[in-house]
Amino acid sequence: MPYTIAGDIHTHTLASRHAYATISENVAAARAAGVEVLGSTDHFSMMLYPEQHIRNFQFFINQGIWPREWDGVTVLHGAEVDIVSLAGTFFGQDIPCPEGIVGHLNRPGSTLFDIVTRDLDYLIASVHNGMFADGATVAQTTAMYTAVLESPRVLVLGHAGRSGIPFDIDEVLTVARENHKLIEINNHSLESRRHHDVCQKIAERAAELGVGIVVSSDAHIAPAIGKFPCAERMLEEIHFPEELIMNRGRDALLGAMAAAGLEVK
Ligand SMILES: [Zn+2]
Ligand SMILES: [Zn+2]
Repeated sequence: MPYTIAGDIHTHTLASRHAYATISENVAAARAAGVEVLGSTDHFSMMLYPEQHIRNFQFFINQGIWPREWDGVTVLHGAEVDIVSLAGTFFGQDIPCPEGIVGHLNRPGSTLFDIVTRDLDYLIASVHNGMFADGATVAQTTAMYTAVLESPRVLVLGHAGRSGIPFDIDEVLTVARENHKLIEINNHSLESRRHHDVCQKIAERAAELGVGIVVSSDAHIAPAIGKFPCAERMLEEIHFPEELIMNRGRDALLGAMAAAGLEVK
């Protein structure tokens, strides 16, 4: 029985620089694919620009002008933030942001992370460059993901099966469940065999431990929005329970966000 997956909350626009669609194109693609909820989550990461200044990240701070209901699609504002240390800190948390884009002064002590993420609905936290974890113990990497899941703005732990950092799956999943956070099953991670087994293991344990997941396209171009064939195939193979797929419908997804303390206004 195929699953109903009506939300795609890990998607990129050309603001990610190695992605190619505008938000309008993604909304149109979501509508065409039957996606009820589109979450836009461009990279908030050092991979974008050599200079880490708010002017390079202003795409994030004006998303309040996007229609919440846009051509029949509920549009959520998010970011995919890089996890950058074993302490589970995020890109931008140690970068001062003393001024806004036109030069007015921010509150003393403001960081780039504060200013960029302040008005967003949710964050996906992912590791893209795991070199900081080279030589770390599983206890350390597990503590890192635990800290990430306990961070109040984070809704989703992104593509942990692809990040190449081993961790104690049961412990991290249990922390996710306790904090009502979601574990991502990322279609893009399953497009090659390389990460398949660890992604499947994460999904199997999520099913057994009763942890909510979110199935994502991680689309970097509009036609990929709302398409999850590899993830759906793997979940079907392991008979993953549909009630744990928290983006199976609009109400389930918004309910999961509320449970995580991330009410969409
Ligand atoms: Zn990307
Ligand atoms: Zn992504």
